[in-house]
Amino acid sequence: MNCELDSDVAVIGGGPAGAALATFLTRLGHQCCLFEQAHFPRYHIGESLIPNTYTFFQKLGILPQLKKSDFPRKHSVRFVSPKGAETTPFYFSERIQGESAVTWQVERGAFDQIMLNHAQCNGVIVKRGTRVERVLFDGDRANGLMVKQNGGGCFKVRARVVVDASGRATLLGNQLGLKRPVPCLEKSSVWGYYKHGARLPGIDAGETTIFRTHKGGWFWYIPLPDDIVSVGLVDETNAVFGDLCDPKQRLLNEVRQCRPLADRLREAALTEPVRGLKNLAYYNTHTCGPGWIMVGDARAFLDPIYSSGLFLALGSAEAAAQCIHEALEEDDVSAVRLGKFESALGDGVDTIHHLIKAFYDPTFSFGKFARRFPEQKTALVDCLIGDVIKDMSGFRQALGKMIPSPPSLQRL
Ligand SMILES: Cc1cc2nc3c(=O)[nH]c(=O)nc-3n(C[C@H](O)[C@H](O)[C@H](O)COP(=O)(O)OP(=O)(O)OC[C@H]3O[C@@H](n4cnc5c(N)ncnc54)[C@H](O)[C@@H]3O)c2cc1C
Repeated sequence: MNCELDSDVAVIGGGPAGAALATFLTRLGHQCCLFEQAHFPRYHIGESLIPNTYTFFQKLGILPQLKKSDFPRKHSVRFVSPKGAETTPFYFSERIQGESAVTWQVERGAFDQIMLNHAQCNGVIVKRGTRVERVLFDGDRANGLMVKQNGGGCFKVRARVVVDASGRATLLGNQLGLKRPVPCLEKSSVWGYYKHGARLPGIDAGETTIFRTHKGGWFWYIPLPDDIVSVGLVDETNAVFGDLCDPKQRLLNEVRQCRPLADRLREAALTEPVRGLKNLAYYNTHTCGPGWIMVGDARAFLDPIYSSGLFLALGSAEAAAQCIHEALEEDDVSAVRLGKFESALGDGVDTIHHLIKAFYDPTFSFGKFARRFPEQKTALVDCLIGDVIKDMSGFRQALGKMIPSPPSLQRL
């Protein structure tokens, strides 16, 4: 088999992380070849953005497309107790000035297509309908890919740096045996789409509402275009998949038992299909090595509660692109060089992890935390908007007085 392609950087996966990273690197003057197994638009879960994604959209140059889209504008988040008690909505404008205080609820087929087309317009070589079979190594140094064309044969790609942006498929994590479950975070999810779910008036129409359930789980309620609402349950794997119920019956039963949510869906009809996913959380013991690096969900995924997935996908993509650029310029693609950004990102992920543990602890509430540590209220809000890639040690220490800190994923 002949080597058919040569590239500075070969990217596995054309989701938001892969598309953003390849765009940034191409603009910095490097040739980037991106392999995506699907033909877009393709379905994907993960529809709610947080405000700190704004800077990435601005740098990428896709704000005009988002502004003219029909994606609902998201100004706020609200939590509702199982009995229907509602927190005051948290409006992002309380912390952020200007237009970046409003973000979007995106239909991912359309959003991901905008991102990938934009990458191509910026000069990224996008190969759709190509599945990466495995990463090729010379010793421990990654130096290319084995790629299979849909319905065709295999070909090799040679690259100076390989980026795994394959999302939950975690191609390199599986190939190198690095993927692990996150201790004590065994959640699963079932979700579907309702037509004609109730919308709140005014600027609350596009809010994310989190409905807590009696059993310790929660539902997301995310308004989307065309009068569709995305509704999903997250709970312990046993609670979601523990009996013989099919996902649709499970979703319908649980919605029925969550009265405030059932009220919002009184006039609504569930559309097909209902989807489910087991064991949401995982991480990799190493996320970079000589000639390779992981970004987005290919690195790790914790929990959807704070809608941080797309923010971390874009954040890791931007930071990794900068490190790859410097590594290529200096002809040093060692793990140390490529992974220079990792400890700052890892600290941010640890902060989110700690707050996730707090959310699932029945003794914890945001109100209690804010009353006990009023000086940390701003930091709490920063977590909700995604402003976590900075020194949050004071916040973590305060939180640790109420909820023990989970082990750092960087040191497990
Ligand atoms: C239940 C649930 C709810 C969520 N809700 C939210 C939310 O509200 N807000 C939020 O921000 N995030 C949410 N997320 C997380 C969000 O979906 C992800 O963080 C985000 O999609 C990560 O982007 P990515 O580019 O890393 O991966 P993906 O978007 O998964 O992209 C990976 C791409 O790689 C391609 N690929 C995979 N393997 C190969 C291969 N071998 N060869 C070629 N191509 C390949 C895939 O086809 C895919 O297009 C949620 C996740 C779950 C599970």
